[in-house]
Amino acid sequence: MASPKTKQPCCSFCGKLKSEVKVLFKGEANAYICDECLILGYQSMVGQNSHSIKIHSSALTQEPQKFELHAPKDIKKYLDQYVIGQDQAKKIISVAVYNHYKRTQVIPNQSDKQDIQIDKSNILLIGDTGTGKTFLAQSISKYLNVPFAIVDATVFTEAGYVGEDIESMLTRLLQNCNYNVAEAEKGIIYIDEIDKISRKSANPSITRDVSGEGVQQSLLKLLEGSDCLVPPEGGRKHPEQKLIKINTRNILFICGGAFDGLDKIIGKRLNTNSIGFKGKEIQETSKENIIQFVATNDLKHFGLIPELIGRIPVLTHLNALEKTDLMNILTKPKNALIKQYQYLMLLEDIELVVMPEVIELIAIKALELKIGARGLRSICEKIFTDFMYELPKSNTKKVVVDLDYAHDKLSHFNLAKVI
Ligand code: ADP
Repeated sequence: MASPKTKQPCCSFCGKLKSEVKVLFKGEANAYICDECLILGYQSMVGQNSHSIKIHSSALTQEPQKFELHAPKDIKKYLDQYVIGQDQAKKIISVAVYNHYKRTQVIPNQSDKQDIQIDKSNILLIGDTGTGKTFLAQSISKYLNVPFAIVDATVFTEAGYVGEDIESMLTRLLQNCNYNVAEAEKGIIYIDEIDKISRKSANPSITRDVSGEGVQQSLLKLLEGSDCLVPPEGGRKHPEQKLIKINTRNILFICGGAFDGLDKIIGKRLNTNSIGFKGKEIQETSKENIIQFVATNDLKHFGLIPELIGRIPVLTHLNALEKTDLMNILTKPKNALIKQYQYLMLLEDIELVVMPEVIELIAIKALELKIGARGLRSICEKIFTDFMYELPKSNTKKVVVDLDYAHDKLSHFNLAKVI
């Protein structure tokens, strides 16, 4: 079978392209099977527990990734190169991640000597959209060289209802490390939009709340650490399907959400009226100031069940990004967007100069859109596409993007509608 998109041969079972697997065997009538599906099939044939297939890392041809535990200070130093601001969050996460992996190393040797059990340090990140929650989690996994998966909490429902089984989030992790179970078992899963599965009322529901409280209940065992049977292709489990067993004890779960309205709950508790300020700016600052006082009880009032809150013990918030932060994001990190565009042009032997006023304009436009750093790239594309289309293979050696040029390009779009 050939992939309709790339015309490359691909596995007739899992759909992976030839370039994505070690070996692709060709059969009759243009059918193919990859090394990974072959191992899965073989293991189910040789009489392993028919409901559970355990793939050992040695069974796969893939080299295990080299994991190295770095000190919290080093983790933070690494994050500083990529993530602008969010100092407090970076520090808290660095410590939590370090302790989490330390715990996974200590337990096997010390369980007989010590009666101390170190709890998991799953993390909850609270912050507006585009403030860097996903990016932080992703950057850490890259630094530690562990598999990483991003999942959206809103796609899951309680078992038996329309939607995805909660265990299918482990499928993503497995897929991202080529179905290497040992690797996946020390990976990081980022669960986005955790605030969207809050229960509908502060009291336990009388009617079933299958996509809210039901999902929170199903998450408990996963977050705490348990053996899970995972559908290799994700989605819903069904009885005839062969499942892969994964233990989640050492998987670090980082949850994130904007938690709209949480400031009011905290404000009420602190007996501070967060409403009533006149200026918009003061209102925004006050919201941020209040979020830093978040306590577990506020999350309970927001609609997270106490058992879930207990399993995500590390709590931190990300600040809303201001104009200077956005300008720094565009220019300062190692792989900052503007540096990427400059590099792309350099490959064409063209020097790209973006005037500081243009950087400021892009930041202002992103602020207006209220999507944090998320909008930066699209705004840049609107300004830069024309010359990136015209200039390659031309005789031009230098291009200067000034304010007039940027205004002119942006005037063709209603950004609120196209981004
Ligand atoms: P969130 O998960 O908070 O909604 P993301 O982490 O997905 O936001 O951010 C979107 C993109 O914006 C990231 O991929 C990253 O490129 C950029 N970004 C966001 N926040 C920061 C930050 N603090 N420092 C550097 N880049 C950032």
